[in-house]
Amino acid sequence: MILPGLSRPVGTIWCIGRNYAEHAKELGSEIPASPVVFLKPASALLLDGGILRLPPDSRRVDHEVELVVAAGGSLMMAVGIDFTARDLQEADKKKGLPWTSAKGRPGFAAVGNFVPLALPSELELTVDGAVRQRGATKDMIFSLEKIIDHLDRTYGLAEGDLIFTGTPAGVAPVAPGARVEALLNGGESRLRLTVAA
Ligand code: MG
Repeated sequence: MILPGLSRPVGTIWCIGRNYAEHAKELGSEIPASPVVFLKPASALLLDGGILRLPPDSRRVDHEVELVVAAGGSLMMAVGIDFTARDLQEADKKKGLPWTSAKGRPGFAAVGNFVPLALPSELELTVDGAVRQRGATKDMIFSLEKIIDHLDRTYGLAEGDLIFTGTPAGVAPVAPGARVEALLNGGESRLRLTVAA
């Protein structure tokens, strides 16, 4: 799949967890000493105007608004939402299992339009018009530069890969029928979704 604003098909979808101190605190997680990395499958991608179908085996799907960066010769950025089945994630964390089931469902890697990277940037997420999350990339624990360096040295980063860089505080569940809107810098990149009723 080639996303709007990008010239290459999407490669690996990398995600960074616990990259904002206030969010780590709200989930009762420790501040990590090195980036917490997990993956999402390409089948999880959802674009602007899409419909999110809540998985029948989860009772709590949270929104996590994030800066998404596309790796390549010139870096591009978009607003994204790392949807998370929090109840499944909590159960898997307790059992020491991977997060794929909680993070990789269809629609759980939502991205808006891509624009040239410019930092610092501001993130905002509203549900039915009410602000739920507001954050700034300057508050990231690991900077974009450090994340890219870490991913490249540890795993090998390729052109076309996407990086979800972590969410600020304010994560909360989405209800059936909700209208979710995420904005980067007030609308430079925009993502509007509906949660299926
Ligand atoms: Mg996240």
